[in-house]
Amino acid sequence: MDDASRSQTALVLFSGGQDSTTCLAWALARFGRVEMLGFDYGQRHAIELACRDRLLDGIRALRADWAQKLGDSHTLQIATLAEISDTALTRDVAITMGADGLPNTFVPGRNLVFLTFAAALAYRRGIAHIIGGMCETDYSGYPDCRDQTIRALNAALNLGMARPFELHTPLMWLDKAATWRLAHDLGGTPLVDLIREHSQTCYLGERGTRHDWGFGCGECPACVLRAKGWREYAGRS
Ligand code: ZN
Repeated sequence: MDDASRSQTALVLFSGGQDSTTCLAWALARFGRVEMLGFDYGQRHAIELACRDRLLDGIRALRADWAQKLGDSHTLQIATLAEISDTALTRDVAITMGADGLPNTFVPGRNLVFLTFAAALAYRRGIAHIIGGMCETDYSGYPDCRDQTIRALNAALNLGMARPFELHTPLMWLDKAATWRLAHDLGGTPLVDLIREHSQTCYLGERGTRHDWGFGCGECPACVLRAKGWREYAGRS
């Protein structure tokens, strides 16, 4: 990465989950200043928004150079997303698999909405780099996580806002074990431990049970992926 990039600002979609916390560390290792954006859309796991502050405190304590780079943390209220989607992420119903092969946690177009709002905020703040934890390697099959979708949206945003945004998805080709390894490469065991302890992945927003991979119900699709990735990572390290 050249000096110009190092001095630039990035905007990270930061929900307080494992993936977005790893993306935040990735951005801190590469850019001169990093701002964060989270969304409150009535999700059942809104507890993850509360996790963000603890994670940010932990990151500040971890490395002084990262602490200096951390800029504003934004939260946008988009309750409309819950109004127009009838899914297990925003309603109190059981998580099941649909006939289309997607779990009913799928909020149609969620990442398209998130990234479009992120670009609008980045436009206003003069930020060109937007970073998201989308991944099509170890995922629930959501079509808006796919690389092709992100590339198409990047092109649409650049045309529609007449700005040269760069959408970065550092986890796109990583499985969950590799995402834990990336966190270790970026911040060593202290960062891995911070993510285990304070990030929230569970769709049900459970914090009750502490597993070796962190807190969660242990049964929803997000917990199953996180636990499987942790077992593979911990088994090899
Ligand atoms: Zn869970």
